[in-house]
Amino acid sequence: MSGLNICSLRSSSKGNSTLVFTEKTKILIDCGISCKMTVSALSDIGISPEKIDAVFVTHEHSDHTKGISLFSKKYNVPIYSNSATWSSMRESLDGVAEENVCIIEEEPVTVGDIRICAFPISHDAVCPVGYTMVSGCEKVSVATDMGIIDERVVNALKGSDKVLLEANHDLNLLSMGSYPENLKRRIKGDKGHLSNEKAGEVALLLLQSGTKKFLLGHLSQENNNPHLAYATVREILCRMGAKEGADFILKMTSPEKISEVI
Ligand SMILES: [Zn+2]
Ligand SMILES: [Zn+2]
Repeated sequence: MSGLNICSLRSSSKGNSTLVFTEKTKILIDCGISCKMTVSALSDIGISPEKIDAVFVTHEHSDHTKGISLFSKKYNVPIYSNSATWSSMRESLDGVAEENVCIIEEEPVTVGDIRICAFPISHDAVCPVGYTMVSGCEKVSVATDMGIIDERVVNALKGSDKVLLEANHDLNLLSMGSYPENLKRRIKGDKGHLSNEKAGEVALLLLQSGTKKFLLGHLSQENNNPHLAYATVREILCRMGAKEGADFILKMTSPEKISEVI
């Protein structure tokens, strides 16, 4: 497959890992599923784990970091993270080779033929980020775990051809659901997660700036379902007359299988 591609290996509130790849370079954004599941998901798309050039960490929560240490140790893969995130997860990364620890802040880094840049997001972690990746004239972005979308996020995402965007919860399902009130408040708060409605609004903004392909991810298994997330975002994207298929493509990620490659 030519160009710059993105495929979610797994995505939900329980575990996230995203593959971004060109013919030459393969990187993971997060490894929040087990090492074994990561390897199995990669084999579903025909990529051996030895081919992974780097793993970039968005933040220290276990649904983004669970398998990272074993994956790095087993396949000798460098881990890129900012220093605050690294410090907060150092214990769980015991035994990762020193040369595989790559501290980056907000300056872009190049791995193979992909240029990667972190941008800050609003979430209850020490220094959470999303990532944009550019190769040739294509740009893809990964943006999940966001309580609010501020101008910095919008500016970072603008110009992306493809975006993996969080659609975490439906506000009604969350309100009526069984979560304790303080957890509901945390999820809805500025440092929590993005609702389907908010995801739709951001997607519409991005569509108007040229983004054509969307993957919806990090769905809550309690407070959302794929049909609802898809329908809500699709409805918002179509509000201004855009047509699915002709003007945009909207695909879902899954907690159980790899997504389509977009
Ligand atoms: Zn998180
Ligand atoms: Zn998460």
